[in-house]
Amino acid sequence: MIYYSTNRQAPEATLEEAVVKGLAADKGLFMPRSIKPLPQEFYDHIEELSFQEIAYRVADAFFGEDIPADTLKDIVYDTLSFDVPLVPVSERIASLELFHGPTLAFKDVGARFMARLLGYFIRREGKKQVNVLVATSGDTGSAVANGFLGVEGIHVYVLFPKGKVSEIQEKQFTTLGRNITALEVDGTFDDCQALVKSAFMDAELNAHLSLTSANSINVARFLPQAFYYFYAYAQWKRTHAATDRLVICVPSGNFGNITAGLFGKRMGLPVHRFIAANNRNDIFYQYLQTGVYSPRPSVATIANAMDVGDPSNFARVLDLYGGSHEAICADISGATYSNEQIADTIRQVWHDHRYLLDPHGACGYRALAEGLQADETGLFLETAHPAKFKDTVEGILGEAVEIPAKLQAFMQGEKQSIPMSRHFADFKNYLLQL
Ligand SMILES: *Cc1c(COP(=O)(O)O)cnc(C)c1O
Repeated sequence: MIYYSTNRQAPEATLEEAVVKGLAADKGLFMPRSIKPLPQEFYDHIEELSFQEIAYRVADAFFGEDIPADTLKDIVYDTLSFDVPLVPVSERIASLELFHGPTLAFKDVGARFMARLLGYFIRREGKKQVNVLVATSGDTGSAVANGFLGVEGIHVYVLFPKGKVSEIQEKQFTTLGRNITALEVDGTFDDCQALVKSAFMDAELNAHLSLTSANSINVARFLPQAFYYFYAYAQWKRTHAATDRLVICVPSGNFGNITAGLFGKRMGLPVHRFIAANNRNDIFYQYLQTGVYSPRPSVATIANAMDVGDPSNFARVLDLYGGSHEAICADISGATYSNEQIADTIRQVWHDHRYLLDPHGACGYRALAEGLQADETGLFLETAHPAKFKDTVEGILGEAVEIPAKLQAFMQGEKQSIPMSRHFADFKNYLLQL
């Protein structure tokens, strides 16, 4: 498959080049030149297939030209070592629980896939060390660090905003050691993201080091997220009539997750429409209302993995719809919620349905509860386990939240991080001295 840049100024790339470079030379995001529809026969019987079987069919459409079938199958099966169950919450709304992986958040899927794919390229090419730079507002860092932990030939640098990440999240990427280094940046998530982007653009650095990104801008992290939309549909289909219309709601920050779902729709997945749920960082919501995209500095909210002021995958959404605001609005609507509304939703759903939402999933649930039409049923992506936001959720409910054993294990480790300023010159010096 050939990948082009959304800015269309950089040369086209192979899969390997797109994965290793992360971002195109013109600062655009890589897009596959074609999105292959899957045959009707696949959709007719999808409910009979396992998650791994479904995911392999989807992976084959994207990566089959570039990776031998056995290798691709191993990568997919090894990545998906956990289930993504669809759990009913209320009469017409179900939760796609994406938190059963190693770090209890959806980013495990993309991170594990990317680590395995990059590991394959490094082995095949006999490359020397590749350095992965990743900016995180919380969950990306833990998913990427754990996905890449111990993968030979790769060192990961996690940049996170000082004091803006919960203790549980922090522990998941600051305690690992080995090939994982945590850099604690004196700034916001947007500062971290800007440092990473500048590093990729810096000629001197790139001559010196082999750098790549594991943010959702990387095609190897972003495309595999399509897998669970297909599996969600398979599960939904088992209990719904052919006349029902499925609406999928995605709590969104950098918009990588929802964009993978939009790719699924382009491949023929019968999703009636999507809803992008925002917290107060509602740049996309405003775009839908006005047709004008105006990024602005992010503000801190209790759904902090969605505190993004300039969603990087917006460029992909725009590209996918040929820049047409009208076409985008036909497939996607928006919602935006304050901290208070998020808290109310967590309280109410716990009270009415005994289902514990995390602050991100709460935005997703609420947008469906408010937005479903009479002939529609909905599912939202529950993007993280509520215990990852223990203090917030306990503060809202006034009850203790149980911490799963997987999370408790991380809490035992000792935090190790390197302080970093938000100025690129300092970050560059650090990297040059490695
Ligand atoms: C990353 C993240 C999001 C936002 O996903 P995007 O792909 O950046 O839109 C939502 N919820 C949680 C818990 C996350 O970690």
